[in-house]
Amino acid sequence: MKDTHKHKGLRNQLVSTIKNKGIEDENVLNAIAKVPRHLFMDSGFVDFAYQDKAFPIAAEQTISQPYTVAFQTELLEVKNGDKILEIGTGSGYQTAVLIEMGAKVYTIERQKELFKKTNLFLPKLGYAPKRMIFGDGYKGLPTEAPFDGIIVTAGAPFVPKPLLAQLKIGGRLVIPIGDDTQVMTLFIRTADKKFEKYELGNFKFVPMLKKKN
Ligand code: SAH
Repeated sequence: MKDTHKHKGLRNQLVSTIKNKGIEDENVLNAIAKVPRHLFMDSGFVDFAYQDKAFPIAAEQTISQPYTVAFQTELLEVKNGDKILEIGTGSGYQTAVLIEMGAKVYTIERQKELFKKTNLFLPKLGYAPKRMIFGDGYKGLPTEAPFDGIIVTAGAPFVPKPLLAQLKIGGRLVIPIGDDTQVMTLFIRTADKKFEKYELGNFKFVPMLKKKN
């Protein structure tokens, strides 16, 4: 597991690219500059790690595009020490970005193969989540709720009610909603039964699926 001077240089270029695309939060940009994305990819794709593109990982899933990771993370407004729930661990790249920003991360993955792989890999890299769960993200994680933020990294056909219920007052849920393409949607819980909703542009994600396998 090597992170060289060259990789760091490529990461700085990637940071410029996503800055030009509109990401402003310095904490997000610093985290992208630090997390060695090439180590989260299968060896055949390592040369592409610092292009602003999604790429295949195991089990027909993808590592999200860096701009998308940055966009979702910016919407979460992560502060040091925040308790964050992530649905869709995948490669663990988004998880590492959140941990780099000082978040305590709980992350759920429904694919056994990916769960096992990332569960071993993240701590080795020094990015240990609070908990990694093999389970169904539609249910959230009621035993650890409430959360300052919840981020869904797969395309959801609708907003799962348990996720809204597991937000603190003032908490934020960032979720791409839709079937073929998704609308990035931000919910802010402003009171016990009150939510603000914002729609923030179209994205393309792998689908959020029910049932584990
Ligand atoms: N955050 C990841 C993105 C992975 S793609 C990364 O940075 O690499 C989305 C992930 O969501 C896939 O790994 C997929 O298996 C997972 N997923 C899909 N439906 C899910 C569900 N219901 N619960 C938990 N994870 C789910």
